[in-house]
Amino acid sequence: MVHVLVHYSEIGIKKGNRKYFENLLTNNIRQRLGGLAKKVCKDYGFILVETSKTKEVVKILEKVPGIAYLLVCSKSNLSMDDMRKKSSKLLEKKGFETFRVSARRQNKNFEKTSMQVNAELGAFIVKKTGKKVQLKKPDVELVVEVCNKNAYLSIERHEGIGGLPTDPKNKVVSLMSGGFDSPVASYLMMKRGAQIILVHFQNYKQMKGSVEDKIHQLAKRLSKYQGRTLLYIIPFEKIQQDIIMNVPASVRMLVYRRLMLRISGIIADKEKAKALVTGDNMSQVSSQTLENLGAVYPASKKIVLTPLMGFNKTEIINLSKKIGTYETSKLPYGDCCSYFLPQHPELRAKLEDLEKLEEKLDKKLIAEAVKEAKKHVL
Ligand code: ATP
Ligand code: MG
Repeated sequence: MVHVLVHYSEIGIKKGNRKYFENLLTNNIRQRLGGLAKKVCKDYGFILVETSKTKEVVKILEKVPGIAYLLVCSKSNLSMDDMRKKSSKLLEKKGFETFRVSARRQNKNFEKTSMQVNAELGAFIVKKTGKKVQLKKPDVELVVEVCNKNAYLSIERHEGIGGLPTDPKNKVVSLMSGGFDSPVASYLMMKRGAQIILVHFQNYKQMKGSVEDKIHQLAKRLSKYQGRTLLYIIPFEKIQQDIIMNVPASVRMLVYRRLMLRISGIIADKEKAKALVTGDNMSQVSSQTLENLGAVYPASKKIVLTPLMGFNKTEIINLSKKIGTYETSKLPYGDCCSYFLPQHPELRAKLEDLEKLEEKLDKKLIAEAVKEAKKHVL
């Protein structure tokens, strides 16, 4: 059995809610690991996972929101003798020239201070291996966590994604196109503890197969972060045709967006979600000028979260590479709106004008689209 110590960062700061967040993260970890973990339990300041499937466990936990980093550990009892034994075993096959020991003592009753543990284990390793201590950027860092019943020793650390644990009370509906931005926006909100429900608006029968495939792939990728994920595919064709018939080309895109927000709001009510998320990015395209966003967002009764608003495109692309959505977002697809890009889009639409244009639209189509939506579980 190997022990994986799960360290969280922000939970520690949330004083009053600490217990709530710790329980949430412990439960999330339990759920995500299922049979891979023999035991998952809280200890003081971290969560301990007991497993014989270390690689699989690390791969999953690296993506779970709320985890700062993981230490793959050997367990020792609370004696210097056993700690020496376990550390020499850990370092046995490891090729390295320099090292340091970093002890942390949760257990203040332990007979030695952290400094003493560092010094004693350090001296022992020097003697045994002939290697050198180096405090700054050593080849190997041996972390020793001295807890109440045991000590845990580790030379293997994996970074998590940080943030806060997924909380079913923080449900939000994320509007996901097939582009680069919206999957990244969804990820960023997941990282803040939101539970994301994905909504995609689909048009054009002839493109359905490939687009649906792409959207499913993106949803699958994102589900690696929060676990079970709902994806709604909403038919948007009839609404778009209605808009094409009734709304001038220069502002059509904005009316599409307003109806997308409205429909997403209905899905949010059904799912008891509190907010919407979009991948909007200030001034990236003509529909994202401040004026246009100001004329679009009031269509939503829920707050609209836009985590990418202040990002540069390269920052978004780099994040999409990091989270694993880049390759899928890159695939060609028929964006449901790009077919109708006008020559001269309006850059400063007025809310009242869009509202007036919308009055001409067939209201039944909204309810119909919601009714015909397909719900998938990933
Ligand atoms: P993305 O890369 O996410 O497509 P974008 O910069 O290309 O974003 P737009 O295409 O103007 O911007 O879309 C703005 C936002 O509106 C998207 O980030 C997304 O949240 C939402 N959106 C656009 N098209 C769709 C769609 N077909 N289904 C669901 N949401 C969409
Ligand atoms: Mg797009």
